[in-house]
Amino acid sequence: DVRPLVAGNWKMNGTRQSLGEIKAMADGVHGMLSERVDALICPPSTLLYVATALCTDSPLMVGAQDCHQASHGAHTGDISAEMIADCFGTHVILGHSERRTDHGETDQLVKAKAQAAHEAGLTAIICIGETSDERDAYQTLDVLMRQMIGSIPLDATADNTVIAYEPLWAIGSGLTPTPTDVGVAHAFMRAELGQRFGEEGRHMRLLYGGSVKPTNARDLMSVENVDGALIGGASLKAADFLAIYSVY
Ligand code: 13P
Repeated sequence: DVRPLVAGNWKMNGTRQSLGEIKAMADGVHGMLSERVDALICPPSTLLYVATALCTDSPLMVGAQDCHQASHGAHTGDISAEMIADCFGTHVILGHSERRTDHGETDQLVKAKAQAAHEAGLTAIICIGETSDERDAYQTLDVLMRQMIGSIPLDATADNTVIAYEPLWAIGSGLTPTPTDVGVAHAFMRAELGQRFGEEGRHMRLLYGGSVKPTNARDLMSVENVDGALIGGASLKAADFLAIYSVY
């Protein structure tokens, strides 16, 4: 059985003022300490180091939202996987659709970043998902296949890689696929990962992301092959994040 992961992605939100929310999440997760589910929060990198300090006594893990594919060097403005690990981050989100769109990230680049993450000892959360046009053209599974083949490195294991299915049209829109549609996508991903990575692929966590809220989390999280959530907006407030965490 796969142990689920509830992960929050703060995107470009959060200043020192928001650290109280991270402290509340750390305390809340500590208090509810569940043997059945892991919790992760990914604040902007400006808050990474202080966030991990706030979480030292809590099982709440802290991660980043991107890394460069190189370990160090002349790359102004970027941060490396090693730097994230140095701040006691354990995970890094890679290939989020907002990075694919805003920064032109390709599958090939996402794969190189995931390899860099693995080399630094981080778990890569690799995001994939179709646009609404692709969905309307019945290309969802083709897109997922292409992105899985293109962005997941060969050294991926159930420990160092998490896949997040985030349909672009569901992100920040309040819209979600039906549980049936999520089930179809996740079963397809599970089969492909099993084919490619064998036993490791059968145990890789598959998160659903896109407008996950306390009100719909139970329905989405109970779909077969859904091993947790990647939460944007609803992860900014500890109360919402903990409400979703407590679904498990
Ligand atoms: P929302 O939960 O705000 O829709 O964002 C989802 C997301 O993109 C998480 O990475």
